[in-house]
Amino acid sequence: MLHRRRRSWPWLALAGLAFCALIEVAHASTTIADPGAFLEQTERVRTTDHPRFVLMLAQMRNEAPQMSAGQQWYLRYLEAWQTAFEGDAGKANMMLRDVMEHSGDITLKAKASALLMHNLGLNNHYEEAFTLANQLVSELPDITDKLARFTVLANLSQLMTAAKQSDLGFKYASLMEETLPPGESLCNPLALEIGALYESKQLTSSSPTLQQGIDTCLAAGQPVFANTLRLVKGDLYLSEGQSAKVLDLVNRMLPSINANRYYAHVRAAQVQLALASEKLNDDNSARKAALTVLNISGPDEISDALKDAYGVLYRIERKHGNIASTLSYYERFVAQDKGYIDGISARTLAYAAVQQHTLAQKLETERLSKQNSILRLQQALDTKAVETSRLYITLLLVVLVSIVFWLLRIKRSQLRFKMLSYHDGLTGIFNHQHFVSEAERVLRVLDKRHGGACLISIDLDHFKQINDTHGHATGDVVLKHTVALCKRQLRPTDLFGRLGGEEFGILLPDCSQEQGMAIADRIRTAIEATPVSSDGGLVAFSASIGLASTDSCGYELQRLRKEADAALYRAKRTGRNRVMTDTESDGLVSV
Ligand code: GH3
Ligand code: MG
Ligand code: MG
Repeated sequence: MLHRRRRSWPWLALAGLAFCALIEVAHASTTIADPGAFLEQTERVRTTDHPRFVLMLAQMRNEAPQMSAGQQWYLRYLEAWQTAFEGDAGKANMMLRDVMEHSGDITLKAKASALLMHNLGLNNHYEEAFTLANQLVSELPDITDKLARFTVLANLSQLMTAAKQSDLGFKYASLMEETLPPGESLCNPLALEIGALYESKQLTSSSPTLQQGIDTCLAAGQPVFANTLRLVKGDLYLSEGQSAKVLDLVNRMLPSINANRYYAHVRAAQVQLALASEKLNDDNSARKAALTVLNISGPDEISDALKDAYGVLYRIERKHGNIASTLSYYERFVAQDKGYIDGISARTLAYAAVQQHTLAQKLETERLSKQNSILRLQQALDTKAVETSRLYITLLLVVLVSIVFWLLRIKRSQLRFKMLSYHDGLTGIFNHQHFVSEAERVLRVLDKRHGGACLISIDLDHFKQINDTHGHATGDVVLKHTVALCKRQLRPTDLFGRLGGEEFGILLPDCSQEQGMAIADRIRTAIEATPVSSDGGLVAFSASIGLASTDSCGYELQRLRKEADAALYRAKRTGRNRVMTDTESDGLVSV
């Protein structure tokens, strides 16, 4: 009967911790020069030379107060490893959780997690073990330390193989080959790969991989791993019905198994001896080996080994007709078988449950990340909308400012044009037209409130001569100069305009004839007294002024102008450079 049963889990899983020669440790007194290097060295020998590991650990313990915080955490991890090795899983797990949570070192955290996962698996806390496994797998890319990575992969491989996920078990084992730490051989990865192949029923006793694994482990000085693989081979011989070969193989490896005193191996070897002897009808040897298995097992243990041992015993008792013993062994066989099957189901179920949980978490994460994306898109849209509104507002403001700017410019131009249309281009005072309209408006106001006013007409004397003698430009200067002199004598309310070439008109509101005469004479005097300079020297000039008052002429501008012009004419006629009023005659007789 081929492959009638599979039972590699317990002894393959323990291979990671294998070694069992417990010795008394003498406290070393030598001082450690480099605690960091010493810790690494200690870790390296933990499976290859376990007694030395224990000794070195004791030495480190003495040095602990002098070590850095990081080194103390490293030591604590090694202590946890040793505690697990000694079988105190509860205490070891507490220490490991402490390292994971508080060391702050990613490598130590990875190693501690791997060992915790291993312990949880061994102690049937499968869900926790697989949850930790998932976490470790997700952290794997960040674990760069070779030994930590190697350890994590080894434990993942064991756990997956135990959960009937042989493909994953094989994958993690082959990944270990790529990350061999210094001092490690291919023995451990090969052993785990073989474990996965065995679980997935892909091995026969003559598979070259199996022999290659055994040879590699022996060459690497890893007898415990080599024995694990030899026991796999023995189990395959049993499945294939090659019982004699089992006896031969087990008897050859017994000295090594006994030397290492690894419990799982001692028991597995006896199971195989019992089963093979039974097949070969050597009942005595079979019974002896089976009873040895019972003797070395714990009282409440449920295991594959015990199931096989009880199986051998009940079948032999039945063969010999011992009904009572048969029944007793059979009952225990059934209990073990059920317990063992339950154990397998528990592992498989736990794995499935954790996978489901992880899947659900992943879906939830994806859903949340989708929601986040939608929110981010929404935010981006909102931001865009705000930006667009801002742009519109800015554009609107620019348009408004432009409009205001253009309106102001237009207004300014209008004002400029207005000013140009109201004023004389050369002198800047009112032009004829504007003077007339303004004077009429002011006179109307004065008329209403019976206020007096004087109108003055000014004409420069012999201006033509100035032009002819000094040039037109000097004539212009004279005109501007005249305006400046007149302004000095005027009030802000007085109206002043250029009525023709060298003729000016001034309306003096709220002004009597006497006051008007005084102002007119001051203007005349100023003009006479202030020549302008030109290229040819000083140019003196004078003006004749005629004055008309509302007192005598009324508020009609036309009348006032006519009277003022008449007075001016009289001034010209009587010799120029003088002021004449509408009420005085020149005393000359017209001809
Ligand atoms: P009167 O004493 O009799 O007033 O003699 P007049 O030479 O001042 O009088 P007339 O009317 O013969 O000459 C006025 C001159 O003023 C004629 C003209 O060429 C000149 N004139 C008119 N407008 C301007 C001007 O804007 N600039 C200059 N330089 N000359 C002007
Ligand atoms: Mg004139
Ligand atoms: Mg003149």
